[in-house]
Amino acid sequence: MSKIKMRVPLVEMDGDEMTRILWKMIKENLLEPYVELNTEYYDLGLVNRDKTEDQVTIDAANAIKKYGVGVKCATITPNAQRVEEYNLKQMWKSPNGTIRAILDGTVFRSPIIVDSIKPFVKTWKKPISIARHAYGDVYKNVEHYVDGPGKAELVFTSESGEVTRKTIHEFDGPGVIMGMHNTDKSIKSFARACFNYALDMNQDLWFSTKDTISKTYDHRFKDIFQEIYDNEYKEKFEAKNLEYFYTLIDDVVARIVRSEGGMVWACKNYDGDVMSDMVASAFGSLAMMTSVLVSPDGKYEFEAAHGTVTRHYYKHLKGEETSTNSMATLFAWTGALRKRGELDGINELVDFADKLEKASIQTIENGVMTKDLAQLSEVPEKKIVNSEGFLLEIRKTFESMA
Ligand code: NAP
Ligand code: MG
Repeated sequence: MSKIKMRVPLVEMDGDEMTRILWKMIKENLLEPYVELNTEYYDLGLVNRDKTEDQVTIDAANAIKKYGVGVKCATITPNAQRVEEYNLKQMWKSPNGTIRAILDGTVFRSPIIVDSIKPFVKTWKKPISIARHAYGDVYKNVEHYVDGPGKAELVFTSESGEVTRKTIHEFDGPGVIMGMHNTDKSIKSFARACFNYALDMNQDLWFSTKDTISKTYDHRFKDIFQEIYDNEYKEKFEAKNLEYFYTLIDDVVARIVRSEGGMVWACKNYDGDVMSDMVASAFGSLAMMTSVLVSPDGKYEFEAAHGTVTRHYYKHLKGEETSTNSMATLFAWTGALRKRGELDGINELVDFADKLEKASIQTIENGVMTKDLAQLSEVPEKKIVNSEGFLLEIRKTFESMA
């Protein structure tokens, strides 16, 4: 059988630790035998980021801008301990943060649903996708420790020199203050990304903030979403019988738990960070959560939601066997290949991605899985396999499918 050919390169970003090991295994066992992979390779492993003074991350993000689709392996975000471990020149920024800043995107996270793994929330039957605004708020804040009495003020100087001044607090002792921001431009692109994604997925869109408390900041988000919905998306949603609604975040939290799922839940940056981990865990496992960054001009970056699985990597280094789940990393690849196929009109590539996803889900349904899923699966007879064994089993299932 001849291998599937690709026309436009896919931006491939390698990463760190256990996921770097899985990355290579996935390519060798499940992709290269079937697809003539055409990728532009960027090594985002920490060693190379340090060597290139992080230029490689910027180059990779620009390549996504150029070609439209990227697939990324999990990477280490350095902290003090990593600076020492890798003898780094400096504490490089989070690669995901750098890429998000360049693409100005929204991150969508969705669980991979397997029938034999029941969510902890019994009513959930369909996937819940979290749309996380990936710009601003507390992630781009300015903080200050107040070491004694004094007055904190919010000051804005307009371009023409007009000054607006508000008192935040009159401190009579030590405390903390924080300033944060967002822009209409970013909120608008967040809103459009959410409406487009919901239409793409054929799912309702729920949006929540805390606008009863944050009457200017959060309210701005609410107004922008409503305005864009009314002017640009209402008809498209109604044509598909889909719903957009806004409500308070406390209300959504209560409703989501009682729902059967099947919606996109749009969250501000911090809410999305926290809620996506909760939703992922409630669906079963972080290793079953996929993530895609969509930019306002329609560029896509696919990845797993989990990190580099350090604990497993250290075991691997000691020569011990690992049973690390590669589902989310594999789905990053299939998501990216499918998108490449759609954009370039290569149906074979779209079909390949679909079939590989089916084969991997089928393998778990058949009772073959990594250790993390064994505790969750309701299949009566389970076979726990190691990291590479799991991929070989998926390949067997794939080969057996018509
Ligand atoms: P993590 O790598 O997601 O792992 C946390 C724990 O979750 C693991 O120790 C493991 O539990 C379980 N787990 C996660 N993925 C798994 C998988 N595929 N198969 C089986 N079990 C899995 O998070 P972390 O330990 O907090 O972070 C490790 C490194 O990843 C850090 O350097 C961090 O900066 C980086 N990180 C990167 C990204 C990204 O690139 N997108 C995201 C988050 C974190 P057990 O040990 O109990 O088996
Ligand atoms: Mg988080």
